[in-house]
Amino acid sequence: MFHVKQRGPDMGERGYDVIVVGGGHAGTEAAAAAARVGARVALVTLRRDRIGEMSCNPAIGGLGKGHLVREVDALDGIMARAIDRAGIHFKLLNRSKGAAVRGPRAQADRALYRQAVQDVLSEQERLDIIEGEVADIDLDSIRVRSVCLSDGRVLPCRSVVVTTGTFLRGVIHIGNRQIPAGRADEPPARLLAERLQALGFALGRLKTGTPARLDGRTIDWARCEEQKGDSPPEPFSTRTDRIEVPQVSCYITRTTAETQAIIEKSLHLSAMYSGGISGRGPRYCPSIEDKIVRFADRTSHQIFLEPEGLDDPTVYPNGLSTSLPEAVQDAMVASIPGLEKARILRHGYAIEYDFIDPRELTATLESKRVQGLFFAGQINGTTGYEEAAGQGLVAGLNAARRAGGSEGVSFDRSQSYLGVMIDDLTRLGVTEPYRMFTSRAEFRLSLRADNADARLTDEGVALGLVGHERRAAHEAKMDLLEDYRSVLRAIRLTPNEARSAGLDVNLDGVRRDGFSLLALPGVDLERLIPLMPQLGGCPSWARDLLETEGKYSVYLARQAEDLERVERDRGMVIPGDFRFEHVLGLSNELRHKLESIRPRSIHEAGQIEGMTPAALVLLAAILRKRAA
Ligand code: FAD
Repeated sequence: MFHVKQRGPDMGERGYDVIVVGGGHAGTEAAAAAARVGARVALVTLRRDRIGEMSCNPAIGGLGKGHLVREVDALDGIMARAIDRAGIHFKLLNRSKGAAVRGPRAQADRALYRQAVQDVLSEQERLDIIEGEVADIDLDSIRVRSVCLSDGRVLPCRSVVVTTGTFLRGVIHIGNRQIPAGRADEPPARLLAERLQALGFALGRLKTGTPARLDGRTIDWARCEEQKGDSPPEPFSTRTDRIEVPQVSCYITRTTAETQAIIEKSLHLSAMYSGGISGRGPRYCPSIEDKIVRFADRTSHQIFLEPEGLDDPTVYPNGLSTSLPEAVQDAMVASIPGLEKARILRHGYAIEYDFIDPRELTATLESKRVQGLFFAGQINGTTGYEEAAGQGLVAGLNAARRAGGSEGVSFDRSQSYLGVMIDDLTRLGVTEPYRMFTSRAEFRLSLRADNADARLTDEGVALGLVGHERRAAHEAKMDLLEDYRSVLRAIRLTPNEARSAGLDVNLDGVRRDGFSLLALPGVDLERLIPLMPQLGGCPSWARDLLETEGKYSVYLARQAEDLERVERDRGMVIPGDFRFEHVLGLSNELRHKLESIRPRSIHEAGQIEGMTPAALVLLAAILRKRAA
C-alpha cells in the first residue's frame, strides 16, 4: 500500500478541512457545498480539464431526475445553473400530466456544460483544485487523517469525500475485447480500490453502457422526425432569468426489422451475453441488445438523435447503448432510417466498475466504518449525473460539518427526493444501478419540481449553504406567494355565490375558499379574478404554483389520511399463502416485487423500494376483507 509521508508542497500544517476525491458531478457539488458552509476544501481529480465532464448522455434532468436538480438548486448547488448556461434543447416532460410527475430536462452542449461547472468552481472561495490520483486514505485509529496521491504528495485533512464514479477498477467491454479504463480515453483507478478493500469495504461490480457517437453531417435528417424544444425554454435554476444559449432541435428515428435481425444474430458476441460481464446494469437504461431480448414482441425501438453541441457535429443516438463488437455496431447503425450513411465517430461500449454497498453508510453518507470518510455518486451504486450531484451536495455538507465538529444533517423522505434516494440507498442497498423515479417517492404529490425551493431553501439558509443573493430572492418570492395565498384563503363563497360567478359547484351548503374553487375542474386563477381583484397582478409563475396547490389540495389531504391509516395498520400480518399477483390496482412492478420479496406484514411491505402509502392502504383493506 502507498504510504509516502512527504507533505504536499502547498499545504500548511493544518491541512484541509475536506478533501473531495473526483471532479465529476458528485465531486463538484461536494466540494462547492463544503466550501459554501465555510470549510477549506481541496478537490483532487485525475484531470482538471475534465471537471464537470458528462461521461455519457449530454443531458440533465428528466422524470425524477429533474426534481433532484431543482432540489440541488434550492440548496444553492451548481447543476441547475450550469445546465442553464449550457442547455441547447429544453423540454418539460409529462407536460400534459399532473405537476407532481412533470420532469424538466435539457440537452447540453457538452463543452459549455463543462465550462460552466469549472467557472462556478473557480468563483468559489476556500476551494483549491489539485490534479492527481488519490491512491491512499490514511487513518488515525478509526478517523481520516490524510490522503496520499500516487506521485507522493500527502494532503492532511479532517474529512474525505470519495466520488470516483465508474473509475474504480473500471473495465470497458466491446464485444470480447476488454480495456482497463475509467471511461473512454481515461485510465482506471486501481490503488484506491485496493485501499478501500483493505479498509474492510466489500466492493461489488456494476455496469453501464453508452452508444456509438455519430457524425451529424452524415445523417439524413429528412428521414427523421423533428422534435422542437420548449419555446421559451424554462430555466432549471430559480437564479436564472432566461436561457440565452441558442436552441436546436432533436430528431427521432426507429430501429427496423433488419436491426433486430442483426442484433439477434450477433447476441453471442455482445460482452453482456457472452458472459464477459459479471456486474448488473441499469434495468431502466437497457442496452439495445437487452431491449431486443426483453421486449421480443416489439418490432421497433425509438432512437432519439441528440446533438452534443452547437459547434460540434457529434450526435448521441439515445436508445442505442451497446457492447456489441464494432463491425456489428456499424451494420446496426446502417440499418436505421436516416443513419444509412452515418459515420461512427466512436463506438459504443459497456463499462464495469467497483461500487461500495451503500448500506455501509449513514444517512449523512458517512461511512459507519471510518469516521470522516464519506462517499457519493456512482460509487454508491447509483447511475446518473443528477443522483450523483444530490449525494455530492449532502456528503460535502456533512463532511464539512464533521470537520468542524458539528452534528450531521440528513434529509427526510417526506421533504425531498434527496431524502428518498439516500434513505433507499443506505437502508435497502442496491442490486442494480439505482436511478431516481417519481414512483420511488411516497409523498410525490408534495415533492414537486416546482416547489423544491419552498421545501428546502429555508433549511439551506439555516445550514449556511445558501448565499445572500439567493436568500434575498427566495424571501421576496415566498412573501409574494404568501400574500396571494392569504387572498385565496380569505374568501368564503356560498354555493349560490360561486354559481352566480359562473362556477359549477354542488349546492351542498358548504362555503368554499379560493383553493377549493381552484380544485374544481376547469377553474383557473383567471376565473377567480372578478371575485378577488387582488389576484389581478399575479405573475405567471405564481399563478402556476397556486393553481397546482389548489388542484392538489384534495389529494394532499387524502395523502395525509393514507399515511395515518398506514401507521395504524403497520402491525397487520400478511398470511404466507397471500397471492400478491392477484391484487388489482397495484402496478405490475409492485406486484412483481411483492411476489418475489413476500413481506410478512404491512410494515415489511412498507420497506420495499417504491412502495406507496396508497398501495399499502389497498393491501391492508384486502387483508381486512379476507379476514372478515
Ligand atoms: P464521474 O462523473 O464518473 O466522476 C468521477 C471523477 O472521479 C472523475 O473526475 C475522475 O477523474 C475522478 N477520479 C476517479 N478516481 C480518482 C482517483 N483515484 N483520484 C482522483 N480522482 C479520481 N448515467 C445515466 O444516468 N444513464 C446512462 O445511460 C449512463 N451511461 C453511462 C455510460 C458510461 C460509459 C459511463 C462511463 C457512465 C454512464 N452514466 C450513465 C453514468 C454517469 O456518467 C454517472 O452516473 C455520473 O457521471 C456519476 O457521477 P460521479 O460524480 O459519481 O462520477
